[in-house]
Amino acid sequence: MPTRSCVGCRRRREKSELLRLVATSVGRLSLDATQRAPGRGVYICASASCLQRAHVSRGFARGLRRKLADQPLDQLQQRVLAALDQAVIALRQQARRDGRAVDDPEADGGVRVVEPKCAAQLESWAAQRAAVAEPVGETDAVRGKRGRRGKRAPSEQEKK
Ligand SMILES: [Zn+2]
Repeated sequence: MPTRSCVGCRRRREKSELLRLVATSVGRLSLDATQRAPGRGVYICASASCLQRAHVSRGFARGLRRKLADQPLDQLQQRVLAALDQAVIALRQQARRDGRAVDDPEADGGVRVVEPKCAAQLESWAAQRAAVAEPVGETDAVRGKRGRRGKRAPSEQEKK
């Protein structure tokens, strides 16, 4: 299983457990839910706190090796959540079309996925969505780092 480092906490994990983000042409971060978009991407744990860490430490721009448009953290979080929702809907529809799912009025979205790999992907996205949706607030540590921006103090991760 290929592994990648999270741009938030720097921990290595299996690629499939991480979210992949790419930059749009105007330098906005965009979720690559299926991890197949061409070009450079960064990986991050599906977690509100890693999203926050990467946002504060500018790990996204570093990992993508380009300047990014300023984007508030809550907006980025909402974009990731919306993209995960879209990915779920798209996969369900695709599965319905190619016979990996059957109509079931009781199931989410009126479709019950019967193919195990596809069902596992949907479950994984649902779990990732819940973890990304956790509230992010500015902790004292985050505010402290912001205050020192530009002075290039070593971050907690770099000290370890
Ligand atoms: Zn992480």
